[in-house]
Amino acid sequence: MTPDQINAGRSKPVWRCNTCGATSGLKWWNGLSVAVCRDNPQCGAAESQKFADAMAEQEAQDAYAAEWLGGGSC
Ligand SMILES: [Zn+2]
Repeated sequence: MTPDQINAGRSKPVWRCNTCGATSGLKWWNGLSVAVCRDNPQCGAAESQKFADAMAEQEAQDAYAAEWLGGGSC
């Protein structure tokens, strides 16, 4: 099922583009349960950027945690 197909079966749209909020012309981003516009590559690109930012943030937190909590042999 595409986000559009799911929305079509509801009285209110369940899925919106996670970037611009559109409720039709949607596809799954990266095959995950995140809807983005099918015809607007920028929406998918913006989602990829958000994901990359989140990953970078997570890595920074992991590095911080590793430095302060893990493996300290002093
Ligand atoms: Zn969009």
